[in-house]
Amino acid sequence: MPSHEIVGNLHMHTVYSDGEGTHADIAQAALRAGLDFVVVTDHNVWVDGIPPYQYGGDGKQRVLVITGEEIHDQALQPQSNHLLAFNTRRELAACAHDPQRLLDEVNASGGLSFLAHPFDYESKLINYQPIHWRRWDVTGFTGIELWNYMSEFVRLVTTPAAAIHYATDPALGISGPNPETLAKWDELTASGQRVVAIGNSDAHATTVKKFGRTAVIFPYEHCFRAVNTHLIADEPLNGNYEHDCDLIFTAIRNGHCFVGYDAPASTRGFRFSAQAMRGTAIMGDEVNGEGGVTLQVSAPKPAEIRMVHNGRVVAKREADTHLMHIATKPGAYRVEASIEHKGAKRGWIFSNPIYVR
Ligand SMILES: [Zn+2]
Ligand SMILES: [Zn+2]
Repeated sequence: MPSHEIVGNLHMHTVYSDGEGTHADIAQAALRAGLDFVVVTDHNVWVDGIPPYQYGGDGKQRVLVITGEEIHDQALQPQSNHLLAFNTRRELAACAHDPQRLLDEVNASGGLSFLAHPFDYESKLINYQPIHWRRWDVTGFTGIELWNYMSEFVRLVTTPAAAIHYATDPALGISGPNPETLAKWDELTASGQRVVAIGNSDAHATTVKKFGRTAVIFPYEHCFRAVNTHLIADEPLNGNYEHDCDLIFTAIRNGHCFVGYDAPASTRGFRFSAQAMRGTAIMGDEVNGEGGVTLQVSAPKPAEIRMVHNGRVVAKREADTHLMHIATKPGAYRVEASIEHKGAKRGWIFSNPIYVR
């Protein structure tokens, strides 16, 4: 079974679009936050020629910087249908006007695609219009962005006082993926579709001017210590670009990953696996349900752990590091974990499903 954990963030912006930092800023922030890789996804531009490896900690630490792209039809008002494209290795923004054609081109390029912030939030205070995914008729996408950190922050920006309160300490408000996104994901996976979930920052390192001072709100490093995607791969990264990209995108394509909110406590070490009559599986895999399947969860810290089958909680442990459940029915089984942080229960871990067939 794959067992090497690789942690990364797959949605962020630089000065090539509406971000305010450079690829070098991102790499240094990722090194400080302890990430293994980042995918930089500027709007409608596939940025070529970025050095893939950056080093920190006197050369002992390495981060892989991969180019991706966030593509949308700029003529569409209000904005909608932001698509994250990974590993296409070419510009695809010209297909933005037709989401199905865009998905087909991503697939033809051997790439992966994720519907970004599919259910977004509105903030009247900052005049932010939600950017939803509206084209649910499309087929061929790899998955959805289950938890977008900056999108959730918008939910908290209701009054000037709230904006200052939560911008000063976002952990006071951040609590989990958009419930509509979770419900849609459960609906899709319960219907038999394989839909991989990832979680990202959508970091922009935006500067604001206030009282004659300039400050970066949500610096990259802060964002990289928040919502990340943790992969379980067959081997560790080895510093060879082709090898490492293949390892990362194979793990993601297979759903061998979970979404971790690493701000309250590191989610490194979480595991979700299945033992069946015919073989073993980890999150993202399909398993033959004949004779029953034993699902096992292990969390790195005591938490409230819930087993969710086709959208319904079927088992729960409070303040525990382990949960075991015998699956007797087919369907998608996923795990959620919550922990107490800053006075409230916060969403902490959201695994990809094990599909019992
Ligand atoms: Zn977007
Ligand atoms: Zn974005």
